[in-house]
Amino acid sequence: MFKRIYGIEKVERSMSSKGERNESGGRLDADSDIETAVTSDDNSAAVGGNSKEMTDGRPLRRDKPSADSKAELEIDPVVEELSIQSSNARRLARWSRVALVGAAVLVVVALLVVVGAWGYGHLRHIVVSVNGTERQVSANATLGKLLADNGDFKAKKGKLLSVSGKVLKPAGGEPISCTIDGRKVLAGDDANATKLSEGAKITVRDGKDLIEDYDVQSTPIPFNVVMNGHGVIQKLKQHGIDGVSEVWKGKISGEQVNKGVIKNPQDLVVDTFSPKPEGRNVIALTFDDGPSEYSAQILDILKEKGVKATFFDVGQHSAAEPQMEQRMVAEGHQVASHSNTHVDMFKLNPQQLQAELSQSLDNIEKASGVTTKMLRAPYGNFGAEQWRYAGDLIDCNVMWSIDTMDWKLPGAQAISDAVLLKAYNGAVVLMHDGGGDRTQDVEALPGIIDGLKAQGFEFVTIDELMAMDGNQ
Ligand SMILES: [Zn+2]
Repeated sequence: MFKRIYGIEKVERSMSSKGERNESGGRLDADSDIETAVTSDDNSAAVGGNSKEMTDGRPLRRDKPSADSKAELEIDPVVEELSIQSSNARRLARWSRVALVGAAVLVVVALLVVVGAWGYGHLRHIVVSVNGTERQVSANATLGKLLADNGDFKAKKGKLLSVSGKVLKPAGGEPISCTIDGRKVLAGDDANATKLSEGAKITVRDGKDLIEDYDVQSTPIPFNVVMNGHGVIQKLKQHGIDGVSEVWKGKISGEQVNKGVIKNPQDLVVDTFSPKPEGRNVIALTFDDGPSEYSAQILDILKEKGVKATFFDVGQHSAAEPQMEQRMVAEGHQVASHSNTHVDMFKLNPQQLQAELSQSLDNIEKASGVTTKMLRAPYGNFGAEQWRYAGDLIDCNVMWSIDTMDWKLPGAQAISDAVLLKAYNGAVVLMHDGGGDRTQDVEALPGIIDGLKAQGFEFVTIDELMAMDGNQ
């Protein structure tokens, strides 16, 4: 600043000496833009003056006011203006310096804040427990970083195994298993996004092994049929369910492994028994092979005597005589199946047996409106193998305990004697209302009923007999 002021004073002096001393150029070294401009004017004025003096050949008059002295007067506002400009520039420079310092301070403060926050997160520590052992970790750490920094705490991925258990890929199984406070966290992105908190309980375990994809060949294991006890009535106690055995074929290894029994079979259980209701004196009259033209006469006698009986009807006959079927039901008798075509069920394959039973039950239901699952197998031919295939269709097979041998047509007296001489509490009497000439049955029936009443018997249906014995 000093030089600058000095320089300006010099310019003024140079102007007043009218080019006699042209020394300003080299001395003005500060604010050269301003001063150079001024000395340049000065030089040209001086040169011009000298040139004029040379051309004219006369000495320049020093006392006369010249154009140069006018210039000296006119230069004052320029100098003043330069001074103002210079003062403005100084103020501007001062403010610039203040602003610069302020900005620097702000930057430093901001840096301190950022570094402080970073340090607070990174230098502060929290305590967590990993597999029961306490560890100090940075307050900013994620589970993913903790795992990475500690080699997953030696936990390993599961293996990929073949169906026989050979290792196909050592790390081909499930990823390592992590939990935080009991919550499962997947290794990878999930763990990387999971921040740790003070006191967190972390578990890190090996991943589970996986078995290669495989095809399954399933083979059913047939259930067993268990027949318990002896007696007149076979009753289904438990349905049979097949078990399953499996062979696995690995899609990668190609191995074939017999996995054996995957599911155990459930036995089909039939309880066989003869009802004998305690403290009672009951007997069940049963009539097979109907309905036929004799059924009406049998029903008339039963109605007259006020006796209830059970009719084991052949499905085809029920379908042919639905009115008779309906009368039996209307008069309080029980109707059940005696097959559909009166076939020997020992001679049927499973499909035929099932068809025979289904058709029989359907025909009886259509004719009588009664849905029944009770069967009396023709000739009594029904055993474990029949139960195996019929268990879903029927739940009861009823035999008999007193056979009148009426089918041999032994005479009404013989038929009557067969019943009255052998009657006992819980007896099931076999007679027929169809399948041939039933004249002898019609003739014997009134005496049989009267004789049994005389012996103090009550007449019950099979359902009633079973219910009295505690079987529904
Ligand atoms: Zn029969």
